Amino acid sequence: MNPLLNPFISIPILKNYILDPGRIQRLNPKQLKKYRDKAFKNIVKYAYTVPLYHTIYKRAGIHPNDIRGIDDIVKLPFVTKNELRENFPDKIIPVGYNKSNGHVICTGGTTGKPVSIYTDFSTMARSAGTILREMNFFNLNWRKSKFVHIGNFNPNRVDLVSQENFQSHLKSFFSMDNHLNIDVDLPMVDIINKLDSFRPDIIMAYPAIFQYLAFLKRKGYGKHIKPKLFWTGGAMLDDYTRSYVEDAFECRLLNIYPSVEAGADIAFECMEGTWHIHSDFFNVEAIDEAGELVSSGERGHVVLTRLWGRGTPIIRYTGMDDWVKLSPGEECDCGLTTPVILGGVEGRMRANIILPNGKVFPPGAFCFITPVLLKLKTFKVKRYQIVQRKIDEIDILLVIDEDLRNVGPSVDVIADSIRESYMKKIGPGVTINVREVNEIKNDKNASKPPPIVVSHVKPEEGYDLLESKS
Ligand SMILES: [Zn+2]
Repeated sequence: MNPLLNPFISIPILKNYILDPGRIQRLNPKQLKKYRDKAFKNIVKYAYTVPLYHTIYKRAGIHPNDIRGIDDIVKLPFVTKNELRENFPDKIIPVGYNKSNGHVICTGGTTGKPVSIYTDFSTMARSAGTILREMNFFNLNWRKSKFVHIGNFNPNRVDLVSQENFQSHLKSFFSMDNHLNIDVDLPMVDIINKLDSFRPDIIMAYPAIFQYLAFLKRKGYGKHIKPKLFWTGGAMLDDYTRSYVEDAFECRLLNIYPSVEAGADIAFECMEGTWHIHSDFFNVEAIDEAGELVSSGERGHVVLTRLWGRGTPIIRYTGMDDWVKLSPGEECDCGLTTPVILGGVEGRMRANIILPNGKVFPPGAFCFITPVLLKLKTFKVKRYQIVQRKIDEIDILLVIDEDLRNVGPSVDVIADSIRESYMKKIGPGVTINVREVNEIKNDKNASKPPPIVVSHVKPEEGYDLLESKS
């Protein structure tokens, strides 16, 4: 049965559909705080019916009645990825939860074991509020704008679960002809030809996919693709890729920050480049390696709390590998006042680059290639990848656009400038090889395009070294 035919499900959804998108603009800070306090108290109460949370709160001597508002969040213990994994399936949902109404979604896990959690129809419906808000914000109408999502539609991946169990039910009520999902595994020329005939207003995809599309666009494909906005999330977007794509399509490419565990967008980037957190949907904290909260503006490991939803609650969850710098936020030039992620999400912790001199770089802070290419005003580099082979050896792989090979600065000049820039930033004692390659290879079984920064150095190796230096 279509869940939307059940008024106990559809009426709250309708209410959320009306109230959710505008909330962060409609409420003043005091009202918003009150909203967050209430939502947080409710979600902690809900979590207390879930054996995993019940056990760890009890062990910590915390009862939901001790929680008066969001400021009391510091009283609660963290929840790790392992705890969710080990307690799947029965202990991460409330006692007596009707599993047939729930859906299991699973994180990507190209490295490390994936984690599975439960979601349900109402939770997925509610999550659409973040996207509706973002679309309203950019003056895009979700009923009229043509939307393409190039994603991973494998079983249990969030994209497919949402398509089969949520979007399909909307079809009974709304025309979804303006919405097209394309599988990322299709050949790229097929994808751009589909886009060309669909003529989307908004495209959502990985940065590497946009980069490839932009390359084909430069070669004359996709003449009818005149989008209003590109969205990317789930992978790091560097400035070179951004300008390569924006220049080819004459369209802004902005970040959103979704995660499978979040079930929605945690934050989105406005035209001013500010990453606004959906603070009525989520509470975001940042901690150091020792699990202590870091000060505002300092880099820390993200800790996520979802202030809504059923299925598996996500409260003070440390299992997402992202680095962030947080700020309570002042009024942005776009008009929004929200907490912000300063400079954006810096990528996966496990891809950290650790150097012999003890410096540690999150992947997002290791793209010194970008300023070089932008300064040389060249789009000759089609793709690139930075690979730390050993602790003291880094390969920088460049794929060159053949049509532009003899335009502007030579490949040698580009390679030398990149090498120089890296040597300056990371200091002596590391060999840097800049090499031209024909392609950047995908990982085996990877569901995402290859990352821009890869390290083959085990974190332990790096941390041992850090310890011996201190
Ligand atoms: Zn803004």
